[in-house]
Amino acid sequence: MPELPEVQTVINGLQDTLKNGVITSIECNYPGTVIYDPELGDEPFPSAVKAYERRGKYIIIHLENAHSIIVHLRMTGKLVWSTVGEETSKHQRACILVGDHHKIPFIDPRTFGKITICLTANVGSYVTKLGAEPLSPEFTADYLLQKLSRKKSPIKTALLDQSTVAGLGNIYVCEILYRAKIRPDRDSAGIRLPKLREVVKHTKAVLAEALANNGTSISDFRRIDDKTGEFQNFLRVYQKKSCPLDHPIENLRIAGRSSFYCPVCQK
Ligand SMILES: [Zn+2]
Repeated sequence: MPELPEVQTVINGLQDTLKNGVITSIECNYPGTVIYDPELGDEPFPSAVKAYERRGKYIIIHLENAHSIIVHLRMTGKLVWSTVGEETSKHQRACILVGDHHKIPFIDPRTFGKITICLTANVGSYVTKLGAEPLSPEFTADYLLQKLSRKKSPIKTALLDQSTVAGLGNIYVCEILYRAKIRPDRDSAGIRLPKLREVVKHTKAVLAEALANNGTSISDFRRIDDKTGEFQNFLRVYQKKSCPLDHPIENLRIAGRSSFYCPVCQK
């Protein structure tokens, strides 16, 4: 499932290929994939792209004419830069048409992904309840302490909650907790400030490394040119048999999610 580094990698790819190109229309090929804001004004297309933005796991494409397109990849969604006339995937759920010659099919086998077309002024109402961006200066140990003090959940679950911090998912939370030496099932409210500083430090480090490697391709994630990311080669515990210190990795089920951790390194 795409998390912050994968979503940002897609945006970086759009910035390099789509750039400020003109979006001429968006086709919906699977019921419910494309959502139209009820306040949608005049026909939003054609319009040139004005700017790109990411909030948590949302890709936001702002158009020149005060409309925006919000893409949520969810579990298996991907955008692939293509030429008009290229073969269509059987999992194509929508298609963004660009100028006269290009298209960006939205391919999503599991069909949970969504593309919302709305007024730019209404973007906030579609990306609600998001906590701090983990790479922003706002994400500090004090911020986390305040967020976690009200939680009655394990630290793993608390960090997956998008209202605590926006953009983390299962893979990166496993990796962050390994580096911070915290068991994933530890009560989040009981973790003190010095340990939360470790969580914050390693969150920023893991995400920065993953971004530098164009994200993690374990299953479906692909870049805009359909190439894989590379960070799967640097994972320390996720889907691993042993940690870098050769201790066997265990897999704990927490809130329905696999939690890979090292019972020796993580306390
Ligand atoms: Zn270990």
